[in-house]
Amino acid sequence: MATLRSLLALGNTKLGQAIHHFDLEAVETCPGRSRVCESVCYATRGRFHTGLVRNRLNWCLQQSRSQDFADHMVSEIRRKGVLVVRVHVSGDFYDADYATQWLSVFRRCPVARFYFYTRSWRVEEVAPVLAQMAELDNVRAWFSADVETGLPDPLPEGVRVAWLQTEAADLVAGHLVFRDRPIRQTPLPRFGLPMLCPTETPVGQRRKVNCGNCGHCWKA
Ligand code: SF4
Repeated sequence: MATLRSLLALGNTKLGQAIHHFDLEAVETCPGRSRVCESVCYATRGRFHTGLVRNRLNWCLQQSRSQDFADHMVSEIRRKGVLVVRVHVSGDFYDADYATQWLSVFRRCPVARFYFYTRSWRVEEVAPVLAQMAELDNVRAWFSADVETGLPDPLPEGVRVAWLQTEAADLVAGHLVFRDRPIRQTPLPRFGLPMLCPTETPVGQRRKVNCGNCGHCWKA
């Protein structure tokens, strides 16, 4: 009997155990990447370098290029009763056709909640599709930014900005800050800053915060 391989994986250390995710190889599927994000990308290191993970990401990329990708994804989400999907722990919306397949999935699965961080807002043909995604009630869209990209302008309705800080002296902006590991222990000024992802703070780590029990990026 043929084995059906799942498009979605379930959970990881950061997401917790209840959030599904679909992933692609980082960098080659990230046309909007900056030099800053590529230089610190977690998805080019560690377990992402193992043969098993690379094989899976490559398989996912092939699936994503199929004209049936959205149909297969919708069918899997419905069959499994999936409630929350992080689109791309690694990888990004690499072109307009692929982004449009996800737009179709979002529209056809109104019960599920989808969220993503993307730098493809910097890619002219993908940006309008992202703006359509952000209009949907079941989608939480985050545009990723850093000192190199600056803030997205204009920012489509419903989109929030996730800022990557890689140097302690960097300015930060947007609605949420992720910090590169070496600077996570450096103090932040107390006022006027966006929220810091709690998985990167000592208090959040003591409280065992993960995306499932935090919810800031996908519930709010
Ligand atoms: S703010 Fe909360 S939901 Fe967002 S990435 Fe951090 S832990 Fe996850």
